[in-house]
Amino acid sequence: MAAKITMKNPLVELDGDEMTRVLWALVKEKLILPWVELKTEYYDLSLLQRDATGDRVTTEAAEAILRHGVGVKCATITSNADRKAEYNLKNLYPSPNATIRAILDGTVFRKPIAVSVIKPSVSTWKKPIVIGRHAYGDVYRSAEMLIPGPGKAELVFTDARGGERRILVAEFSGPGIVQGIHNLDESIRNFARSCFRYALNEKLPVWFAAKDTISKTYDGRFKELFNQIYETEFKEKCAAAGISYFYTLIDDAAARMVKGEGGFLWACKNYDGDVMSDLIAAAAGSLAMMTSVLVSPSGVTEYEAAHGTVQQHYYRWRKGEKTSTNPTALIFAWTGALAKRAELDAAPDLGGFASRLEAAVLTAIEAGDMTGDLARLANPAPARILDSWEFIEAIARRL
Ligand code: NAP
Ligand code: MG
Repeated sequence: MAAKITMKNPLVELDGDEMTRVLWALVKEKLILPWVELKTEYYDLSLLQRDATGDRVTTEAAEAILRHGVGVKCATITSNADRKAEYNLKNLYPSPNATIRAILDGTVFRKPIAVSVIKPSVSTWKKPIVIGRHAYGDVYRSAEMLIPGPGKAELVFTDARGGERRILVAEFSGPGIVQGIHNLDESIRNFARSCFRYALNEKLPVWFAAKDTISKTYDGRFKELFNQIYETEFKEKCAAAGISYFYTLIDDAAARMVKGEGGFLWACKNYDGDVMSDLIAAAAGSLAMMTSVLVSPSGVTEYEAAHGTVQQHYYRWRKGEKTSTNPTALIFAWTGALAKRAELDAAPDLGGFASRLEAAVLTAIEAGDMTGDLARLANPAPARILDSWEFIEAIARRL
């Protein structure tokens, strides 16, 4: 075997829980370590380790990602009452993803991995649609009130010096409801920056959509700031890379998306992104074929699979069963991170390896070597369903 590919700088590796932890080790052993002299700064984010460190390990891992620029994360359990009993935990902590997102101030991009044997439900789609979801504010941080009966609801803003501005929301003639939502200019600007950086990296056109015809001030501000960041910070870079930016109304975007060929980044406001990313994932096939990357405004990235720890498969594995859990999105988390490291370090041999590993996964699936989740959807259907170990062997052979 030829000399292994070396790495100049490390990746930050965040290990996780349950079935994805089992596959994580297997993917490294069979697909990466035989070829790459892997350099990682390792953090164990398993539930017990987070509990033992009072969740300090999560914060340290996020800070390490900021320091090194690239991270790769396994799925982790978000603790709740059931898990507290199951693992005999001292405390409950927030979801590690929420903690990391807050420290990186990032935007989450979700992209389906396309294979020719699985057709999306929308027949015109030829290329994946990537969702970039703004992850701050709007209805996710709203103040709401039940209105018991007649009266008036007003919006009041008190500035730092005590000056007041108020506008009427509605005169209630009977019972109803009212809601106050907000967002921040800097959060919207950072969202736009993350979207353009991602698009430049992936060479994708950018769409942004809102409802500024109806919401002239609120959605109008989104449109204005997104446009301002494009004009002042990204227009020339986008032009040089041949990337277009297009703003349209959200209903128009939804209609165009279904009629089009795909192959673009759809920047979505928080609620739109919540709804549209599940729609795209469902229409594209399987949760195990959805990648996810967190991009900070300064360009720091963290790659992961969109799915969770696949808990039920883990319980079956512990009883000795070889489960047919699909490691594709986990492998693509690794290739995404390795390719990003390669780009930052100008290391084309490492980048080439990441591309070959992705190609080996896709050719394996397209040749009929696949796990059960895909076998149920594939056309033609495979002769046999592989377990995860056989599937990874089939990829290793091609690699
Ligand atoms: P999940 O792990 O995503 O799995 C839900 C179901 O989706 C599985 O039971 C399985 O269906 C299917 N599935 C998901 N990934 C698959 C794969 N790679 N191969 C084959 N099938 C796959 O969600 P969950 O079971 O609701 O959550 C388990 C734990 O994950 C929770 O503790 C949650 O907190 C955590 N979680 C973590 C993250 C993260 O770290 N990013 C994200 C979501 C959830 P079948 O059973 O039908 O085969
Ligand atoms: Mg959702």
